[in-house]
Amino acid sequence: MNDGVRVPGDVVAALERAPGRALMLGHVHPDADVLGTLLAIGEALRAGGWSVVAGGPHPAPGALSFLPGVEGYEVLKTLDGRFDVTVLTDCPNPDRTEGLIDAAKRASPVVVNIDHHPDNRRYGTVNWIDVGAAATGEMVYRLLTALGATLTPSIAMNLFTAVHADTGSFRYSNVTPETFQIAAALTAAGARPDVVSSALYERRAPDALRMLGESLARVQVSDDGRVAWLALPIGAVPERFIESEELVNYPRSIESVRVACFLRQLGDHVKVSLRAKGDVNVNRIAARFGGGGHPNAAGFTVPGSLEPVTRDVLAAVRDAVRVEASVRATSS
Ligand code: AMP
Ligand code: MN
Ligand code: MN
Repeated sequence: MNDGVRVPGDVVAALERAPGRALMLGHVHPDADVLGTLLAIGEALRAGGWSVVAGGPHPAPGALSFLPGVEGYEVLKTLDGRFDVTVLTDCPNPDRTEGLIDAAKRASPVVVNIDHHPDNRRYGTVNWIDVGAAATGEMVYRLLTALGATLTPSIAMNLFTAVHADTGSFRYSNVTPETFQIAAALTAAGARPDVVSSALYERRAPDALRMLGESLARVQVSDDGRVAWLALPIGAVPERFIESEELVNYPRSIESVRVACFLRQLGDHVKVSLRAKGDVNVNRIAARFGGGGHPNAAGFTVPGSLEPVTRDVLAAVRDAVRVEASVRATSS
């Protein structure tokens, strides 16, 4: 089993103190892993008598409106009052809070950083990084168990969704035996895999398949078949449609593709998602553009417009794919 199975004592101690006021602070563009874990810890602390504020720089996306308690997740511009403890989950980089981490450090003597990203900057006063965890959801399951918290059906749903999402529905290479053990325990505690799957994949609007068709018609594949990309200009399809789909998975689904890219214009920036299949470390490519992530799933946002950014990103991706191909040719 992976090294991180044991929850560090300082993490448990940070949350085992007398109840007070706690902040659950989310990262930009919150996803299921960050929201599910913050909502789960928040609910467990509230049950123990804590007063909890949960929020971050951006709202929870509509696609995750089914997460229990997500209606209480606030968009925070500043922080009000003092906190006894602040918890960040799934957030490798303090920049991903749009400055709220600095306010949290001033307002809170204890900042707990719980994450599974390899490039975590250890910005907390307490840091627990387990790169072997498929999702922060696995770590928070272990944490709540160590704290003796009751795993209610709503906590179980939030943590199950976190794990489900970060493993691509238990399909990616980050899945371990422990992933299934935790998923089983969460299901026993009341998580509903069928409800999570249909909430994530079967709530499309009537016009969504047409938009999917229009988007997929833009997918391009390199001559050697190793790189596929989808670049979406502003207005090509509505924002709410993009947020409810993992569009990068479609170019990734082509057999020969080693790296898939999804690029979309967002105002005067371009948001880029990269996915790999184990041969190329896309985290390293994202780091060159100021982003980060995992070896097989990384991203970044850069100023600029779609065409030049697409050109630069594809050049970097092709370099990385070429280097990887030559390394494998010489080592085989
Ligand atoms: P995405 O493609 O946005 O779903 O993100 C995939 C992975 O890359 C996730 O683990 C994110 O946390 C990470 N990631 C995305 N954008 C950034 C960024 N700007 N900086 C650091 N990590 C990022
Ligand atoms: Mn995340
Ligand atoms: Mn995660």
